[in-house]
Amino acid sequence: MKTNLSRIERDITELSKFNSSKDGGLTRFSLTNEDRLAREYLKSELEKLNVEIYEDAAATLFARREGTDPTAPVIMLGSHFDSVKNGGNFDGPAGVVMALEVLRTLEENNINTKYPIEFVAMIEEEGGRFGSGVFASRAMAGLVDYAQLQRNKDRDGISMADAFRDFGFDPEKITEAKRDKEKVKAFIELHIEQGPILESLNKDIGIVDFIVGINEFKVIIKGRPDHAGTTPMNMRSDALSIASKVIAEIDEYPIAENNGTVATVGVLEVKPGAANIVPGLVEFTVDIRSKSQSSIETVRDKVFLKLESLTKGTKTTFEVVDMLNVKPVKMNQQMVDIFKTCADERGFSYENMLSGAGHDAMIMAAVTEVGLIFVPSKDGRSHSKDEWTDFDKLQKGIEIIYETVLKFGEAE
Ligand SMILES: [Zn+2]
Repeated sequence: MKTNLSRIERDITELSKFNSSKDGGLTRFSLTNEDRLAREYLKSELEKLNVEIYEDAAATLFARREGTDPTAPVIMLGSHFDSVKNGGNFDGPAGVVMALEVLRTLEENNINTKYPIEFVAMIEEEGGRFGSGVFASRAMAGLVDYAQLQRNKDRDGISMADAFRDFGFDPEKITEAKRDKEKVKAFIELHIEQGPILESLNKDIGIVDFIVGINEFKVIIKGRPDHAGTTPMNMRSDALSIASKVIAEIDEYPIAENNGTVATVGVLEVKPGAANIVPGLVEFTVDIRSKSQSSIETVRDKVFLKLESLTKGTKTTFEVVDMLNVKPVKMNQQMVDIFKTCADERGFSYENMLSGAGHDAMIMAAVTEVGLIFVPSKDGRSHSKDEWTDFDKLQKGIEIIYETVLKFGEAE
């Protein structure tokens, strides 16, 4: 190994200390004292290297290691360092530590790359404090403006704009975080898998081919609330009766696509919600994820058709409200091939994977070419105090990205 296992372990252990949680797990919300302390630790490590440290208008921490070609676009490496409430020590920091360790290893080995390399540590990926996830990457993609910062508030009613000011940033400059596509060559992220596949297959790393697209929508079925004792069965407009028939069938639609498509009904509300009243209103969510946009649309269409056929000729009606629509992202094939070559050269086993969760890499695909490496999650656990990745497994993921940087960054 060229990277250093004890440094990796120390980084993760140190970052885990910047934690506001009193009741287990790691809580590190953005623009808080814990954010500040984690940032200071990272800066103190970066200051040991020959890099330029800076922060953008979205409070993302960068460290730039110049390449030999001063006009060449940059290769960014990193992830986020915020957490969910009572989360774990690896979701996010694993990728930040990767970026730090790759920079250290380049310097230790006196390697010059043609392309500049930037360490990237982002905030508010989880949306844990302000409810607005993948924030820093959205800012780099030019998808955040000042009005959003004023609108997004934490549980204490503090707006993101005020939190930025308190932290020493000018929120009115947020759009300056947008990156010029011409000046970015790639974004490479390492992340824990957050699922059980790598461990169950006993594979060292996951090479992500696609980040799934997501369509999330709410279905609202309107019937009529009537007395459960006096209304005959053939004279009811029972919203739940219709909803249950649709929901019972939704499992079959993604399975029929046969390409890893999934669909989930995660929220179901029945109103008025009394044992003795026919349900007059039902709302449920449908979350469809796939690497294939056409599979997403097929599953969605089947839900619509089923709803139409069940409500046709009745007094029950339905409407659909879109909540989230993100197209699938295909990873840069050249980078995927380099990942595979490096894994083969090192004798690391790997699995081609879909990323079913949203990551900063998904948003960065709007800016540049992206690559994403997964490392195994013990028992598939994440967003929990039980989140764990063995350090030697994390190191293997970091090694692959180090080797990729040498090839993709054209080391001399
Ligand atoms: Zn994450």
